[in-house]
Amino acid sequence: MKPLLQGCGMRASPPGNCRANARPLLHTTALPGRRALAGRAASPAESLGMIEVLKELEALREENQRLKEMNARLIKEKAIAFEAPAATTAGPAIAPPVIEPKRSSGPSTSPSGSESPLARGIHWPTPNEPNFWDRPARHEPFPLKLEDSLQMNIEKDSIPLHIVHISAELAPIGKVGGLGDVVSGLSKACIARGHQVSVIMPFYESLDNDQIEGLKHELDFEVPKGFIWDGEMRVCMLRTTMFSGKVCGVPVQLIRPADWNACPLFRGSKIYGGSYDDREAYLYMCRAALELLQITGQQPHIIQVHDWHAAATSMLYWEVYNKGGSLWRPRMVMTIHNLDNSGECRQDEFGYTGIPGEPYAHVDKALDERTIGHNPERLNLMKGGVIFSNAVVTVSPSYARDIVFAGAGGFLREVFNLPHVSSKFYGILNGVDVADWNPAGDPVLPANFNATSLEGKALCKEYLQRGLGMAVDPTKPLVAVVSRLEGQKNPGLMHAAAYHCQDVGAQYVLLGSGSQAGPLRQAADTDFKNHPHIRILIQYSERLSHLIYAAADMVLVPSNFEPCGLTQLAAMRYGAILVVDFFAEATCGHVLWSHPDYKLTDDGYCAQYFCCSNLRPCATEPSWL
Ligand code: ADP
Repeated sequence: MKPLLQGCGMRASPPGNCRANARPLLHTTALPGRRALAGRAASPAESLGMIEVLKELEALREENQRLKEMNARLIKEKAIAFEAPAATTAGPAIAPPVIEPKRSSGPSTSPSGSESPLARGIHWPTPNEPNFWDRPARHEPFPLKLEDSLQMNIEKDSIPLHIVHISAELAPIGKVGGLGDVVSGLSKACIARGHQVSVIMPFYESLDNDQIEGLKHELDFEVPKGFIWDGEMRVCMLRTTMFSGKVCGVPVQLIRPADWNACPLFRGSKIYGGSYDDREAYLYMCRAALELLQITGQQPHIIQVHDWHAAATSMLYWEVYNKGGSLWRPRMVMTIHNLDNSGECRQDEFGYTGIPGEPYAHVDKALDERTIGHNPERLNLMKGGVIFSNAVVTVSPSYARDIVFAGAGGFLREVFNLPHVSSKFYGILNGVDVADWNPAGDPVLPANFNATSLEGKALCKEYLQRGLGMAVDPTKPLVAVVSRLEGQKNPGLMHAAAYHCQDVGAQYVLLGSGSQAGPLRQAADTDFKNHPHIRILIQYSERLSHLIYAAADMVLVPSNFEPCGLTQLAAMRYGAILVVDFFAEATCGHVLWSHPDYKLTDDGYCAQYFCCSNLRPCATEPSWL
């Protein structure tokens, strides 16, 4: 009975954990009680036991069947993700590569001597050519037929809504991580489904204005803004300027102080951690966004606020604008991309919104309960955002569960666990924009490819090796990392990985930026300076990231946790094998675990579905090769 009962135990665990126990269940084939009973008449007690066993067996069979079906469905989904997008419902209609049988015209410029039509059009970089990724990679057009991704045949939703996103990031013009990707991809997808969508965000000095169509100054307006003077909060009016334009078809409204000499918020070369105070800047953004909606007479159905930066919008909306009657229609949706930063905020700092923080300092509002009894007590913006929003969306169903029921909510878990709060949570699995992340038509790549035509991938690898001045060697596995360099992402393991790759004869390319770049930068300047096989690039570049995903044989994601992880999705889309250190359930079924017991199989790396609970993390030693 014991093995069976262990197998059955999985049904008592939360729904999301069922995959975790798939292996013990599938391995439960022996029925000891049954064998012992063979060959003689069963006593009534034995018969009862047998009935129980048979019932258990039946239940296990059903469970097994369900898991098999899920397995098949996920494999199919993975296959679709790699197919030419023409075959998907969500993707753009793109034909598979049509390689013209052109005759070779002159010597090939490929370092490895490839003379295929794909290789012939490539504008090969000279070794160590500075920023080669910023110029076109081909001097001949792709031998592919591409169709406009926004002309996808997507069914319209029956009730068109007016949705306004308020966000600190938007890809590709102002992106630091997945937040920017999601706001951009989600907006495009909603527009394609017939909704009216716009994004209000800061007009950072560092924005890539070249990618904003029709950028124009729209209006100036006054925004109430608090400042501390002689220990007291005073409120002034800050003249704010708004520019409008479109980013990849998504209307944007960009706001910033009109006079940067008087107030430098959003000025400088960095989005976060630059020359201004982030908390002050984003509290001002929240107030300015609501003022903008009010003075332009917009009454969206939904205002969707993203992460702590925009959380105060929900708090201000209900207490000031909705109560005051100027904005009456919107309902607030808060999206939690990552609780790693929950927006700690002093009560007086909240005054940067022009509204005092004291009224929010209650346990049932935005009070940071860890500070109860402190003088003064503090606020937490993420908590305020959740309390004051009508619905809360997390970037994956498992992250919603982890936040509410497991440890990911941290000190906020108790609040999120309250029935009236937890009932507002929805987990919606992130996706990548399959038009932007499309190796079959990505204009950044020197050669394109898809799951059935992989020549282009080999050329991308050669192109990157050559451009970065590495040894051009198709036989060396190329391991890549593209990541923010922050604690969550485990930069220590990325660092160790560089040495490990050197030891085992692999190549390694890291592209990253962030507050914990120091040791990696140092390794780049010393141990790996001009190294033939290792490159550590401390910078941010969207274009280079596409090239790296396309060139990589493996992509390493050693994060301590991942609410979802767009890096994983991009890597898979570009045909790289994922190697992860921590298994985020959100990406269940999509990753190759580095544990030696779980190798590639004939069915592909996705043949089985694991979860962290039945796998040992590979604690300190990188062991993925
Ligand atoms: P997070 O949002 O926590 O940073 P995700 O994996 O969800 O993690 O998304 C990260 C996104 O940011 C991916 O699109 C990744 O390619 C991109 N990215 C991270 N660092 C860099 C970098 N230095 N240069 C270019 N893109 C980067």
